[in-house]
Amino acid sequence: MSEGTAKKEEKPRKFQAIRGTRDLLPPETALWNRVEQTAHEVFATFGFGEIRLPIFEATDLFARAVGGDTDIVSKEMYSFEDRPDARLERYKHILDFETTSFEMNAIRAQVHDLQIVLSDLRAASRQGDVPDTTANQRNLENLGILIGELVGHSAGEKRLSEADLARKLAAIQRIGRDLELAERVSLRPEATASVCRAYIENGMQQLPQPVKLYTIGPMFRRERPQKGRYRQFYQIDAEVLGGSDAPAIDAEVIEMVMTFFDRLELQGVQLDINSIGCKDCRPEYVKLLKAELSKPEIMERLGPDSQRRIETNPLRVLDSKVKEEQPIIEKLPRIANHLCEECATHYAAVKHELEMRGVFFRENWRLVRGLDYYMRTTFEFTAQGLGSQNAVCGGGRYDGLVELLGGPPTKGIGFAIGEDRLILSLQESGKGPAQQGRDVYIAWMGERAHATAIRAAKDLRKAGFSVELPPVEQKFGKALGQADKLGAKYALILGDNEVAEGLWTLKTLADGSQAKYTEPDLLVHLKRQL
Ligand code: AMP
Repeated sequence: MSEGTAKKEEKPRKFQAIRGTRDLLPPETALWNRVEQTAHEVFATFGFGEIRLPIFEATDLFARAVGGDTDIVSKEMYSFEDRPDARLERYKHILDFETTSFEMNAIRAQVHDLQIVLSDLRAASRQGDVPDTTANQRNLENLGILIGELVGHSAGEKRLSEADLARKLAAIQRIGRDLELAERVSLRPEATASVCRAYIENGMQQLPQPVKLYTIGPMFRRERPQKGRYRQFYQIDAEVLGGSDAPAIDAEVIEMVMTFFDRLELQGVQLDINSIGCKDCRPEYVKLLKAELSKPEIMERLGPDSQRRIETNPLRVLDSKVKEEQPIIEKLPRIANHLCEECATHYAAVKHELEMRGVFFRENWRLVRGLDYYMRTTFEFTAQGLGSQNAVCGGGRYDGLVELLGGPPTKGIGFAIGEDRLILSLQESGKGPAQQGRDVYIAWMGERAHATAIRAAKDLRKAGFSVELPPVEQKFGKALGQADKLGAKYALILGDNEVAEGLWTLKTLADGSQAKYTEPDLLVHLKRQL
């Protein structure tokens, strides 16, 4: 600040993490790493490869894959319009010109400009700078036709009347205004849509099928935050795409989740499974369910949410947790009794395959997925210590999804594990990591000892020990106190005497005992102890 401008000090804003997001701190992050490392190891033994995906995608992708009517897409996505390219923005202005003259030379000059704009827009569209929406495709195609007609006119091949010219030019102006130059993008609310997009885009249908992929990372949904529910949360997601829909694939995917949870010693794991039929048998069941729910004596006993769902998505009524609705739901028709023969056979075989793998499950006829492309197997894992948000993994078969996104007909099944909840449950049952202390705290004093301490720290770290080397000299008493606070197991004491003798003092902080070692002996001793 320059002299004399004694400004009133502004109190700086105290920034906080955005509601529903949080920092993951050490030592908890050690548990996150252990969970993710275990996922990498277990999934690799089942032949899954890791895929890393963008955090944001075209909003349309999620609208298609997750469904425009779902809460996730209609209410919970973080969406924004990307910034249009400045060059393309200028083209929009060129297209949206003012027509002043139909004189041939003027038209020729204009046609020349329009041709350049068109060819650039087409190139930009190929490169993905212009969003490849259906409206843009249509507009670019029409623009090509209109400009072609103007070229014909100015070359004298097919003359247009002034009225026709005016109409064509107005149509071009309209297209200029309508072109969408900026993509609407969203932070991903889930990973399945992106995995399917990547499968199609990278031509993975050419690989040996099925392709088994997994991914770990943050997802974003604008939900009401509470314990176990965040706006940025993490999922461990796996998908099997292509090949057959053999029941053994469903069972093996479920077995993989169970193996992963077992390895982590997750407590109170409960697996629920169900079959929700296919596009042949489910509509019949939904019709029946809807008819039942619409009976006045039933409808009037349902809450407003369920009443609304009778129309929008009757299957979701089965999801309801409202206490008063439970006795009514229990008496509703069950899908198991309405599966077509193929679905019933598939479901029976999935159960048999699970039994052969020693995976315990509970059949839960109310476990549904509200989206059309979900079919047959659905499953959910719950775990202890999570209160009302106790689902740690949800999954199911979705044979129609890849096709819905413009790919070939492709079988698919997958799951998403809620990593935040998995971690919470592990912590609740005492499986969290203990405070991570240093192995060795180096208490040094004196110029010569400083150089030795730096070398000792380098060697100990190379051997894999966690070492704290204080940046400035401290009195030994203070250094030992500091070592204690950091939970160090040992203090390596380096003073002038130690350096001169070549014998280093190692103090065990738990019992206060100490002994002297030569440098190589010290390493051997520590390796044996730690
Ligand atoms: P879904 O993608 O909705 O099937 O969810 C799969 C799993 O992700 C759930 O079983 C939860 O464990 C977890 N999950 C979903 N939404 C959230 C959220 N807002 N916060 C934390 N975990 C979530």
